Amino acid sequence: MSILKAVRGTRDLLPPETDLWNRIEATARAVFERYNFREIRTPIFEDTQLFSRSVGEETDIVSKEMYTWEDRPRAQSEKAQSLTLRPENTAGVVRAYIEHRLGETGQIQKLYYIGPQFRRERPQKGRYRQFFQIGAEVLGPPSAGSESPLRDAEVLEMLAAFLNRLGIAGWKLKLNSVGSSEDRLRYVATLREALAPVAAGMCEDCRRRAASNPLRVLDCKVPEDQPIIAGLPRIWDSLDGASRAHFAAVCAALDACGITYEQDHRLVRGLDYYTRTTFEFVEDASAGQALGAQNALLGGGRYDGLSEAIGGPSAPGIGFAIGEDRLVLALQAFSQEKPQLADVYVAPLGDERNPAALALARHLRDGGLSVELGDGLFRMKKSLETADKQARSVVILGEDELASGILTVKHFATGKQFKIPRERLVEELAVLLTPSN
Ligand code: AMP
Repeated sequence: MSILKAVRGTRDLLPPETDLWNRIEATARAVFERYNFREIRTPIFEDTQLFSRSVGEETDIVSKEMYTWEDRPRAQSEKAQSLTLRPENTAGVVRAYIEHRLGETGQIQKLYYIGPQFRRERPQKGRYRQFFQIGAEVLGPPSAGSESPLRDAEVLEMLAAFLNRLGIAGWKLKLNSVGSSEDRLRYVATLREALAPVAAGMCEDCRRRAASNPLRVLDCKVPEDQPIIAGLPRIWDSLDGASRAHFAAVCAALDACGITYEQDHRLVRGLDYYTRTTFEFVEDASAGQALGAQNALLGGGRYDGLSEAIGGPSAPGIGFAIGEDRLVLALQAFSQEKPQLADVYVAPLGDERNPAALALARHLRDGGLSVELGDGLFRMKKSLETADKQARSVVILGEDELASGILTVKHFATGKQFKIPRERLVEELAVLLTPSN
């Protein structure tokens, strides 16, 4: 029989790598909560229309990459429905915001999520078909200040704080504005005109998009098309005064806290719902390169019309999604995560001591220590070596120890041995295992 393997583009995350994933997630939670964000969890599959109406029919994601299936009705009362594994999480969060009428609180909602997303992309380093995003959204009624450029700047400042706290060696913030929906209409008309004489020489996707959704031509990665794209008009020249002032206000607030950025005129991002601010944090090649071609650590932007596009009230907002897989790659390249060891290995000498060993392990765990429990197979010489790889100390439980209640403890780092009464064991181990000892 052939061996079954994880499906192409998906992978198993094993320890000790999962320690790093947990550290990243714990850091995200700690940092985001400092900015008063709360967690939201939405389903991993949604009605297909949610994505076609928000992300956009002509985007790569919707036109090529979604895992979509027709869900057959199971009862007469049910209708067949087209469902899709979420390719991103902003649409789901905005749907939940509308469905639960969160706007009626009159306040800005600050929500973060951590979870898997699914896109049928060509797998390569840093690009998978199931990947993980850590994201956040700030949205609410305009009366609550949800359109304020200060919201954009605060989100960017939070991201800088997060990456720095994680110890990402170097990052660069790329920033742009894609303007309001009116600016976009103006720009799209200009772009359509500029593309008309050159589109015939471009790739098949670009030829189609030049007519259907010209902005998406700027997302094209085909090398031969790049010189043509470089010569196209810039979106900045189509922005009105209000959009430029909004962008300038974001920049002023970033300047005030010393966060550097560069304006990238081509940063329109591959999703239709963005308005005004768009941004990406990329790995800074000058600080060493772990990611190669897929160097975007995270991306995001403002989406002032998204709620209306899926049938909700006006709820301007800004958000981002961090590629967790890429953070892991970037961190692995520069630091080796130490394998995690248990505090204590409990070693019963002989099967008769197994029950007492479980009771002792329970006592130590109740006392806050992490315990690896051996069993009657433990042999003094041979097994001590294995225990050394799993724990920082070992407690021997033989006949004498059981009878006297005085236990033999070995601390692996120093090689020292101690005799400790059972009732003082938790306390003394805690002291012994503090990092300075
Ligand atoms: P997007 O939702 O396309 O704006 O992507 C936001 C971030 O998610 C990117 O900057 C990447 O870090 C990450 N990302 C997007 N697609 C993938 C993928 N297929 N595999 C791994 N990470 C991804």
